[in-house]
Parts: sequence; C-alpha cells; structure tokens
Amino acid sequence: MRISDLRVHLVDVEIPPGRRVRSGAGLKLSRQAAFVEVFTDEGVSGIGPCSFGSVSFELTFVKTLVEHVFKPAVIGRDPTATEAIWEELYYGLIVRTYGNRGVGVAILSAIDVALWDLKGRWLGVPVYSLLGGPVREGAPAYASSVYWSNPDECVRTAREYLDRGYSALKIKVGESYRKDAECIEAVCASVGPEVQVMVDANLSYTRDVALKLGRELDRLGVMFFEEPVSLDDVEGYGILAKALDTKIAVGENLYTRWGFLPYLDAGVDVVQPDSSRCGGISEARRVVDLAAARHRLVAPHTFSDAFTLVANLHIALAMSAVVILEVDETYNPLMTELVRNPPAIRQGIIAAPTGPGLGIDLDRDWVEDHPYRGGRGIGPGVRPATGVGDLADRLAADLGT
Ligand code: MG
Repeated sequence: MRISDLRVHLVDVEIPPGRRVRSGAGLKLSRQAAFVEVFTDEGVSGIGPCSFGSVSFELTFVKTLVEHVFKPAVIGRDPTATEAIWEELYYGLIVRTYGNRGVGVAILSAIDVALWDLKGRWLGVPVYSLLGGPVREGAPAYASSVYWSNPDECVRTAREYLDRGYSALKIKVGESYRKDAECIEAVCASVGPEVQVMVDANLSYTRDVALKLGRELDRLGVMFFEEPVSLDDVEGYGILAKALDTKIAVGENLYTRWGFLPYLDAGVDVVQPDSSRCGGISEARRVVDLAAARHRLVAPHTFSDAFTLVANLHIALAMSAVVILEVDETYNPLMTELVRNPPAIRQGIIAAPTGPGLGIDLDRDWVEDHPYRGGRGIGPGVRPATGVGDLADRLAADLGT
C-alpha cells in the first residue's frame, strides 16, 4: 500500500453575533478549520485536523503548503510507517524553513492523525487499539467554557453545562482581577463542591495578578489554573506551581515534546497536548509519556472540531495519565455537523468510538456547503496586563460586535 494523494478540506461557519464568546485569546467570529485527507493506491484513506477552531491567518496558506510541499514528500510512501514519515517531515521539511513550532507542525499533526486513522481503517480496528488498547471504556470530559461576562451570566452558563450532564467545567478569566474573582466566586457558590471547576487565563495575566487570583483559587478548591501567564515566562510557571496548591496547566499552544519539556522541568502539574497542533497522535502520546514519567497529569486541549476531539479521545482511552478531556460547548457546528457520527457524550463521559480508525466520518455535503470565506476567525488576543477589560471592549467595538 502506497500514499497516492493528499487533499485539503477547508470549512468556515460564521458564529451568530449573539453566540460569540470572548477571552484573552480574542473574540471568536467564525469557526474555520483545515483537514488533510490522505489517500492510498488500495482505496483506504484517513483524515486528520490541523484545526485551530477560530484562526487569524489565511487557511489557503495551509492548502498551498500541503499541495506543494508536504504532498510531494509523502507520495509513494508506505502510510503505515507513521514514525518514519513524522521524522522525515519534521527534520527534513519543517525545522529549517517553517520553524519547529506553529503552522508547519500543525500540518504535520494533521497528516499524522490521518495516517493513524488510515492504519486503523486498513486493519479494521479503532486507533486506541493500535495505541495499546483501552484503559477505560469512556473518557471523562469537562464543558468548555464559561466566557467573559458578568457573574449572573457566568452562573447561568455554568448551570446550563450541568443541565447537559457535565460535572466539570471551565471558566475563562484574564479580563480584570476583580471581575474575574467575582465570576469564579459566583460560579463556585452556585455549582457547589461536587462540581470540578477549572480556570483558564489564556496567557493574559502578569505573574503578580496570577499569584493573587491563584490564592483565591486555592481557597475555592479549583482543579487547575490554565495558561496563567505568557508562554515566554517559563520561570513564572514554575513560581506559580510552587506557590499555589491549585495545579498549574499549560499546553494548548505548545508544539512537540521539546516545547513541553521546559514547562515540565519548571514544575507545571498538568499538560494539555492537542493532537491537532502538537505533532499528531504520535507526538501527543510522547508528551503523555513525558508527563507520566514525572507523575504529572494530562488534560488534552480539544477545542476546535470533532476530528480533534476524537484524535485526543483515542489517546485518553489508551493512556491512564490522561485524567479529563476538554469539550467545546460553545456554538460550534464543527463539533456536531461536520461529521455524520459525532462522538456521544452522556453524563460528562465520551463513549469510545466503535468504528475502525478514528471512528467518525466526514459529511462531505456539509463541507461543500460551508466553504472557506477567508477573513479573520478570531479578533486579536490581549497582552498580559491587569486592566485588559478596557482593551478587550475596544477590540470588540473595532470589530463591530
Ligand atoms: Mg485554554
């Protein structure tokens, strides 16, 4: 069996103005994503995501790179040789020209996930069987997320997630210390101690504000504090991990095992690899092993689409260091309508897919009906500061929302 073709699917869905959400990562305007499909001369194919959920770069760039750079590099290769293809693409194609982080690794991620999907379909088994078999029948999940708003609205959204069966949820912070603390306090008081609450600053705090809010999180028993400070402040992650009882989490914006290592060495408690960005299922698995060897936990970032969720789900089903999966519960047809058989989530547990490979199938008619339109999918994020709320309001006004 040989790889015969690579094709890119781009999709785009505008988020209705009333359903747009805002965090330190920016205001989400539409859901835009890219998927790579790998074909073989034996008729078996597989699909993988390099999906950012909402993006602020031109996705036709991904299509051009795949068609003109990645495709010629893998045509004629044995698609089951996932490790060899990963190393060839990473060392031979990406690091010297596109860098060892960012979009080149994201495209490698899509190809790697597609190859695992393809291998599973060819052998007639789910991907988690290829990763060592199940350590659990379904993966625990949390609802993501309660976005920037006032305390009453935050409580309303949190209770909606509980009504959908979740017993764990995440709150976005990073707007301003006072407002963030009020929202977390209100949500924790409303949902009670039985519900696990996580907090995500999307890199928006300075060290001092993160430490101050972290002490409140310690008092409230929050499960983890995600991306509290800038990724450039690895030392800050270590200081927070040491000073706080609340676990410190990072990973959705990290690429490859070498991107995670400095944070693990600094002492972060939870890592959040995402198969659609960090280097595929092959690399996410290595990151899980690195964390497990240091007795740390893994909670994969899985925000963008059904393929990303399921790719990470297979890792969670096969690796016991994964404690919980993120599920995007905001407006996102890429989770529900992009595939004909989205994963079933009941009472906060995602069921193991039963079909071969990833176990989900692209709805090609839906893809055709939602072509990529270009333009920004997400407004600019904020830089670490204490009074960033004013800045975010101004950005939202600039974007006409
Ligand atoms: Mg996050």
